[in-house]
Amino acid sequence: MKTTQAAVIRENGANFTFEEVTLAPLGFGEVLVRNIATGVCHSDIVAANGLVFSPRILGHEGAGVVEEVGPGVTNFEVGDKVIMGFNSCGLCGSCLSGRPFACESFLPLNMLCQRLDGAVTIHDAHGGEIAGNFFGQSSFAAHSVANVRNLVKLPADTPDELHKLLGPFGCGLSTGAGTVINALKVRPAESIVVFGAGGVGLAAAMAALASGATCVIVVDINDDRLTLAQSLGVTHTFNGMDSDLVDKINKATDGGAHYAIDTTGNMKVVRTSHEVLRIGGTTAMVGLSAPGTAVEFEHMGILDGRNIIGVVEGHAVPQVFIPQLLDLYKVGKFPFDTFVVQYPFEKLNEAIADSISGATIKPVIVF
Ligand SMILES: [Zn+2]
Ligand SMILES: [Zn+2]
Repeated sequence: MKTTQAAVIRENGANFTFEEVTLAPLGFGEVLVRNIATGVCHSDIVAANGLVFSPRILGHEGAGVVEEVGPGVTNFEVGDKVIMGFNSCGLCGSCLSGRPFACESFLPLNMLCQRLDGAVTIHDAHGGEIAGNFFGQSSFAAHSVANVRNLVKLPADTPDELHKLLGPFGCGLSTGAGTVINALKVRPAESIVVFGAGGVGLAAAMAALASGATCVIVVDINDDRLTLAQSLGVTHTFNGMDSDLVDKINKATDGGAHYAIDTTGNMKVVRTSHEVLRIGGTTAMVGLSAPGTAVEFEHMGILDGRNIIGVVEGHAVPQVFIPQLLDLYKVGKFPFDTFVVQYPFEKLNEAIADSISGATIKPVIVF
């Protein structure tokens, strides 16, 4: 039994409270990670307000060091530097075909906050059950029980200061960059419009530039974020409230974009992201909205050959894609650290408030 400090949500919409919790002994294929930092992702905020499992520990962009390995673990050892991505089963048809983001057990492994066999692995100081295993990690805690399937090993010489910033590679930044590189497969001299200049959107814009796109447009309603996007080298920025937005994008892309990405989850924006495409273009829906939300598209716009795809986790295999993103960072083509702001663990509630208000693009909690 291992005790550790964790940030717990006791009811929907409540603040996180800081508690000592007890972690169950490691099961088969599990790894105990001492977290040094964790990103805060939009899905944490959604899950803090609307999951049925209470109390619970969220967090799914953890970065840490392996402290103990469970039975059956042969590819990690104590002291390995790791970051944590999403979990997958490794056994279903999707996983066996190299598509773990489409794992048949994605929902139970990442969202149901328990082991696949239903076991609860975390208890509070009074012995009460706490839901954990969020994205196979629940990293809003000083320690996580992770799994060999969602751990990514970093080079042993990764400096601590960099390691602390890399948690967001586990979800938000992989989602944005992976949508461009793995799902849309943007090629040199193509055009792309990114709606929403948060962490996911800016990662998508940087990946498009790294892929050789020569027209990279970022749209947001926050002018400060547009200024930041310009500093990353995007070719155009437009305010989403601009009444001539679609015309301006058409002009900038010479008749419509090859690709668009919606990171906002706002259905009006999703529709606009489809309207700015050229024939044969593709819009990728990435932003999370409430389950059951309907979206409407103009029928001829689709019949003409403008495509729509949904992308989960950037169609990434974390152990393959995250090292690639790290290489892009090392050669200056993925400068994500320009929009990361670090907060101490005890300021998690403040970090989340700043993320919601837009004051901070990508909060990282440091333990
Ligand atoms: Zn699977
Ligand atoms: Zn996420």
